[in-house]
Amino acid sequence: DSWAFTDKNAYDWSSEEEEPDGRAQPVQVLVVKDDHSFELDEAALSRILLAEEVRDREVVAVSVAGAFRKGKSFLMDFMLRYMYSQGSDDWLGDPDDPLVGFSWRGGSERETTGIQIWSEVFLVDKPDGRKVAVLLMDTQGTFDSQSTLRDSATVFALSTMISSMQVYNISQNVQEDDLQHLQLFTEYGRLAMEETFLKPFQSLIFLVRDWSFPYEFPYGQEGGMKFLEKRLKNQHEELQNVRKHIHSCFTNISCFLMPHPGLKVATNPHFDGRLKEIDRDFISNLRILVPWLLSPQNLDLKEINGNNITCRGLLEYFKAYIKIYQG
Ligand code: GDP
Ligand code: MG
Repeated sequence: DSWAFTDKNAYDWSSEEEEPDGRAQPVQVLVVKDDHSFELDEAALSRILLAEEVRDREVVAVSVAGAFRKGKSFLMDFMLRYMYSQGSDDWLGDPDDPLVGFSWRGGSERETTGIQIWSEVFLVDKPDGRKVAVLLMDTQGTFDSQSTLRDSATVFALSTMISSMQVYNISQNVQEDDLQHLQLFTEYGRLAMEETFLKPFQSLIFLVRDWSFPYEFPYGQEGGMKFLEKRLKNQHEELQNVRKHIHSCFTNISCFLMPHPGLKVATNPHFDGRLKEIDRDFISNLRILVPWLLSPQNLDLKEINGNNITCRGLLEYFKAYIKIYQG
């Protein structure tokens, strides 16, 4: 069995860095305030990354980033189920269980721009025998005005610098906008990492939600790669540059096409996340997507200048990167 966690009781975790109510939960570690300044909750971040079991472990940091209301937190809660079930075959769980973890919501009220981290860092045995720490980050931007675009770019850049796997969650297609945003984000990130001669970032995964052309490019990773190649290829000069730029920044680029989860998920205000009410196609692709991202052999360790770093090291980088933007 290649899985080992600090505690088997999902969402009812207790150890020395437990939250006030004794459960693991999302912790807002970075907030973008109304005046566009950033605030890092260093104490909260330290509590998570300096917990005794994890602080000296090499770290895998998985981030999901993108605009509001595109199903990021919903997806992350399935990622949590996978992590808590220790990779068991029925990790998706009971069809009637409500989905809990990062809060996901219908409606359109604004949420905080920033970064949330799951308070429990998971311990996983890689196939080569190394026990590594896995951190899950949920990142949100707004993109609704020039000034929030800048905030979002900074948040995206920070989460890209901190993570080893960045899932760029986008809706329906890879639009020109999405690519331009990505260029802006990564430009910010690159500026901050100018000294390095290596590619500054690691894995970028385009996750396209509500993909509706499966007859052209099938759901999943293979269809995704073909689609992405085509999407990035036949474009005019400006986008060619974006493409080059993206390739120059990331070591691995991939794409996964997800089907629509069905109308209950998208529109019913009383939907509580239970599997029973999610379209079958979505579930079967979720079954492929989550292990593709998170199974022990697929987890990419965080590297900075070619070296793996520990949770303790990641905390220091986090603090240093924030300073750059607080400038
Ligand atoms: P976030 O703001 O990106 O974290 O989005 P949430 O995870 O909070 O989800 C926002 C809304 O979208 C919720 O009502 C979900 O039920 C719904 N939702 C979740 N996944 C999907 C999806 O793949 N497609 C669609 N159309 N809606 C989704
Ligand atoms: Mg969310």
